[in-house]
Amino acid sequence: MNIENLNNKKIATRIIHAGAEPDPSTGAIMTPIYQTSTYVQAAPGVNKGFEYARSQNPTRKALEEALAIIENGKFGLAFSSGVAATDAVIKLLNPGDEVIAANDMYGGTYRLFTKIFEKYGIKFIYVDTTDSQNIKAAVTAKTKLIWIETPTNPLMNITDIAAVAAISKPAGAWLCVDNTFASPYLQNPLDLGADIVMHSSTKYLGGHSDVIQGALIMNDAALREQLYFIQKSCGAVPGPMDCFLVIRGIKTLHVRMKQHCENGKLVAHYLRTHPKVARVYWCGFEDHHNFDIAKKQMRDFGGMMSFTLKEDNLAAATKVLSSTKLFSLAESLGGVESLINHPASMTHASIPREERIKNGLGDGLIRLSVGIEDADDLIEDLKQAIG
Ligand SMILES: *Cc1c(COP(=O)(O)O)cnc(C)c1O
Repeated sequence: MNIENLNNKKIATRIIHAGAEPDPSTGAIMTPIYQTSTYVQAAPGVNKGFEYARSQNPTRKALEEALAIIENGKFGLAFSSGVAATDAVIKLLNPGDEVIAANDMYGGTYRLFTKIFEKYGIKFIYVDTTDSQNIKAAVTAKTKLIWIETPTNPLMNITDIAAVAAISKPAGAWLCVDNTFASPYLQNPLDLGADIVMHSSTKYLGGHSDVIQGALIMNDAALREQLYFIQKSCGAVPGPMDCFLVIRGIKTLHVRMKQHCENGKLVAHYLRTHPKVARVYWCGFEDHHNFDIAKKQMRDFGGMMSFTLKEDNLAAATKVLSSTKLFSLAESLGGVESLINHPASMTHASIPREERIKNGLGDGLIRLSVGIEDADDLIEDLKQAIG
């Protein structure tokens, strides 16, 4: 169904019907995988809206409509990975422009900013965005983009999206929110004033650890045109099979997320009572630093969390990381199966150690992506691994 027909529908209905029109040529209920590079034209310039698959593909189009609908946006764009989506946003900028970014975010985003884009003359200023006043203090006439992630990977810090939007708007800067950890089921940044929502669709949107993909969603038509121009000019587009997988993943987003939230809550509370655990980072605890903001802008708190042991060092963490049986030791997150990860050596290894530690990401930190298995079994597994 298209956006208009789903406008007044509730989230589960929106998610299931988003972008799904029966295939016009056969009536197939699922959008076919249009595995084609080009489209035959009736005469030069006379075509059915599809010319060359880097620019347009029907499977991708169905996905992009679905992305817009589930994020309460007008336009969606799909990319070959989450970092390709981020890359496209930074390509909106010119040398000399400034970006204010969170000092605690996905390591690959930090690497893209510092190692690729700094050399093109774009300046990145990193601040603690959990207090929006820090962003306000960093704004200059050259600020063109504010980049935040909330909750953050891996420390589960929360930034007040509406408060940052109130700073970005008068500054004339775009606000882009990496919404990967929350997923559109838990949080919709466009409703809170963000200009662009970014997703690593690899995670909760795909949901089954079988695809790498990224997404951008926005409301402004001119911004969509600029980002579409970058998408087709730079060419980081996903293939049709991968688009099909994300379309299929999205259909169960709400049921998966409900279970991730339920299991996450149980695991977070269990860890908190464990005598060998020092600290649990999960944004659903009432004493979380920004719990009030999390409660205000999220529908629930998800299945992502991190923790440290009282014996806060690499050796003790390594023992846990190599002892779990249901939690598989792997990068990534958001799939139906539970994963355990060591940010310092895995997902966040691209951040220099001093920088990491300064931002509170120590060598002993363990991150969990709580899956949708039975919560009792997951807790049992952590119990035997922590010992
Ligand atoms: C994984 C991830 C990314 C990068 O996405 P890829 O699909 O791996 O390119 C960006 N942001 C967050 C929060 C992530 O977890």
